Amino acid sequence: MNHNHEQQQIVTACQLLVEKGYLMATGGNVSIRLSGQNAFAITPSNYDYGKMTSDDVCVLDFDLKPRAGERKPSVESNLHAGIYHARPDVKAIIHTHQVYTSALALINAPIPALFDEQVRFLGRSVDIIPYAPSGTGFLKNGVVQRVKNRHNAYILQNHGALCFGHDMERAIHNVEILEKCALAYLLALCSERKVSKIPLAVREIAFVKLRKDQQKVEQGNFQTSGE
Ligand code: 13P
Ligand code: ZN
Repeated sequence: MNHNHEQQQIVTACQLLVEKGYLMATGGNVSIRLSGQNAFAITPSNYDYGKMTSDDVCVLDFDLKPRAGERKPSVESNLHAGIYHARPDVKAIIHTHQVYTSALALINAPIPALFDEQVRFLGRSVDIIPYAPSGTGFLKNGVVQRVKNRHNAYILQNHGALCFGHDMERAIHNVEILEKCALAYLLALCSERKVSKIPLAVREIAFVKLRKDQQKVEQGNFQTSGE
């Protein structure tokens, strides 16, 4: 089976995320589901994004058995496999240590529903997933339990960010929306004035649209509506 397209998609996504400042040094990891298979392509562990080529990208079964790639896969491979298993609508996963979201990860501040487009793409809120050390089953279990609420972005306490998409393009888009919301929220909190939220009814309408997209992805007939 040839996985070169997915491996190249990972390299291209990492280059873009480094360029935009969401990935730095060797922090974070990126994966994409192999269509119709219980397998995914994921970044190698602790490897310079600037040097990465498609041959460096690992391909693993959901039980973490290697299919391709000579390098050691990301320490979070088990976490990515758990998310793909729990969320059939998720086709791409991006974990970063992006700075403004990481600041919220330090003060344990989940992001409430602040903006329409936030809820439309990320979910009702961006919740904090309690701390567990990187690469452990404790972190995987905590994440898998919480992603069942069908949100597309989470904050990992004292660690970083986790974003999903129905494809890599949308996952990158969600990383960008999350960081914009995190920065705006931090600035608003610094003002020490009351932070207003969007009306509850609007929040629910936006979340229903996201859920409908997810259901279409699961049924295999999702088309970007431009809404
Ligand atoms: P890897 O380089 O093994 O993917 O680890 C980076 C990281 O961010 C762990 O959470
Ligand atoms: Zn990390």
